[in-house]
Amino acid sequence: MLDLRPTCEHCNRPLPPDALDARICSYECTFCATCVDSVLNDVCPNCGGGFVPRPIRPSRNWKGNNYLGHDPADARVRHRPVDPEAHAQFSASIRTIPPERR
Ligand SMILES: [Zn+2]
Ligand SMILES: [Zn+2]
Repeated sequence: MLDLRPTCEHCNRPLPPDALDARICSYECTFCATCVDSVLNDVCPNCGGGFVPRPIRPSRNWKGNNYLGHDPADARVRHRPVDPEAHAQFSASIRTIPPERR
């Protein structure tokens, strides 16, 4: 099941389950849209992949207990700020390659 992580790994801004600006990579590394655009250049600092908007898990039990009340958000904060200079070097060779070809 998808981890709904509580904050941006870089700036530690809260990203509650209904946040529209949460972004994830395929490993569920979680950042805010501002950091993805302004610091990360759409390159995940942990795996080199790209980001997509994180889906919102329903807060109401529409069907079969598939909702936040049964499957709550993850509480473990992973605050691992990137070094912007080091990431600029890492992402420079990657960001020109579209995510589907990385
Ligand atoms: Zn952020
Ligand atoms: Zn990643």
